[in-house]
Amino acid sequence: AGDKKWPYLLGLTVIVDGIAWGLAGPLLFTEQYPQYQMILILFIIVGAAAATITFASWLGVALTYIAVILTPGVITLLNAEWDTYRFLGWAGLVFGFVLFGLAATSNHTITRMLKLRFDNERLVENLSESHTQMSQLNAELRKNNGALQKALEKISMMATRDELTNSHNRRYLMEFLAREKSRSDRTNSVFSLAVIDLDYFKRVNDSYGHIVGDDVLKQVVNVIQRHVRATDCFARFGGEEFALVYSATELEEARQSADRLRHEVSATALKCDSFSIYTSVSIGIAEFRPGEDVAELLRRADQALYVAKSSGRDRVMVLSRDQLAAQPDAEQK
Ligand code: GH3
Ligand code: MG
Ligand code: MG
Repeated sequence: AGDKKWPYLLGLTVIVDGIAWGLAGPLLFTEQYPQYQMILILFIIVGAAAATITFASWLGVALTYIAVILTPGVITLLNAEWDTYRFLGWAGLVFGFVLFGLAATSNHTITRMLKLRFDNERLVENLSESHTQMSQLNAELRKNNGALQKALEKISMMATRDELTNSHNRRYLMEFLAREKSRSDRTNSVFSLAVIDLDYFKRVNDSYGHIVGDDVLKQVVNVIQRHVRATDCFARFGGEEFALVYSATELEEARQSADRLRHEVSATALKCDSFSIYTSVSIGIAEFRPGEDVAELLRRADQALYVAKSSGRDRVMVLSRDQLAAQPDAEQK
């Protein structure tokens, strides 16, 4: 409450001061000593002007001060006998109006400046608040983007990988083969396809159960995957049958690579709980002939696999043209 009283007390003091100076004019007004009157008038003029400037932001005080300091002197001067004094009275009146105008104008300017400054501060505050909000939104967006990216990666992984063995799936294999075919057709180059099937896998399931069977499947895949080059494609074709595409590779090179792989599988002890299992794979290989269909390539590789199975398993088979002509359809195996 004390804080609020102070300005009023100050304004009141200033106005009382104005009344005192204003009354001093006519009270001390004598025609004998014009030089003292001049000094007094000067004081009043300077006081009125100073108050106008000082209290411009407080228009009520400024206007009251101008009125009370000038009015007594002006009235007295206007009633004087001497023309010169009456002229001074009119001049005082005009001076008073000028000061009124000055005070009002200054007050208007100051008020506007203060308002602008206030608005400015508020704008800066709003701006920094908006900036904070935007940073928060950005952070959230980044987080969501990250989650989305992860989800997309998972989806694309699910779309191209086999769930059990984590090798590529049949869909991916078919796309890979289509790409290899179109490249081979374009550049008249070759690539090779190996079809890999686990030998007597049904017996593993029958003897040890499906859980062990799954485990064996995964371990065989791990062994094979160590031999697959980054540019090739190894995929689960279905069941215990896999395909390996040797990109830009001729038949003989693919055969040698597949045989190393076959040997590795049959030589590896697959650990299942307390015991180990040995298994083997049969592999049929075919080389792509530019212009032929992927289905045709698959059929020849399957025929080779059929021969590998029927001639004793645990081997890699490539069919010569004569053998191919003599072979019955692989589907009949
Ligand atoms: P072959 O040497 O002639 O290939 O004999 P095989 O027993 O491997 O062939 P067959 O086609 O008769 O049997 C394949 C078996 O593979 C049948 C099925 O129980 C098993 N199998 C296929 N997919 C899975 C799988 O995802 N998990 C398990 N545990 N077994 C599977
Ligand atoms: Mg099999
Ligand atoms: Mg099979």
